[in-house]
Amino acid sequence: MFFLFGEQVRIKSLKEGQFNCPVCGVRQPYRRFEEVNYFTIFLLPIAPLSKLADYCQCAVCGSSFVPDNYAEPAYLGGVKRALVYVMMGYNMESHKDTVRELWQKLTASIIDDREIGLEMDRIKASKEDIFSFMKTQAYHLNIHGKQKIIEAAFLMTYASCEIEHRDRLRVNLIGSALGTPLEFVEAVVNRIRASNYYGLKRNLVVS
Ligand SMILES: [Zn+2]
Repeated sequence: MFFLFGEQVRIKSLKEGQFNCPVCGVRQPYRRFEEVNYFTIFLLPIAPLSKLADYCQCAVCGSSFVPDNYAEPAYLGGVKRALVYVMMGYNMESHKDTVRELWQKLTASIIDDREIGLEMDRIKASKEDIFSFMKTQAYHLNIHGKQKIIEAAFLMTYASCEIEHRDRLRVNLIGSALGTPLEFVEAVVNRIRASNYYGLKRNLVVS
């Protein structure tokens, strides 16, 4: 006799309620979800191994929130970090306009240069790399929020360079730190390409 061991992520709905969704701008129903990684035998969940995520999700727009903190969707911190980190990585500090443009396209809100400057200071002062930062963020994100962050990382990379293997790899690693499979990152990138990169202007140096 042999056993087929494995792991499986299960999403559990914990409770429902109503909240003022800042994205929809009106009162909406929400659900709180928990994602738990289970040890399985023959695909049957036997014991929980670790809790991967805990978030509230608007039932209408799908945005996820840190439980009991509904001031802004949880993905904003990750989108901001991805945009500013990639901009700095390519020495594109003079192109804060691209961060502003992408921020607006991805979050339908406004970010100013002062806020971008503050995020630059945070990145310079932080001992944490982008991947551990994203791992922490993932705890309060649903797949919709993770998609926004991957879009931010890829589009900012596309705006800043002719993408080579290592540039594309970084986007994959950010997706992996967020807990998404490679196929998901690939699908997000393909969707952006099919949408003509959301009409984004690139900042390539012509030599
Ligand atoms: Zn909503």
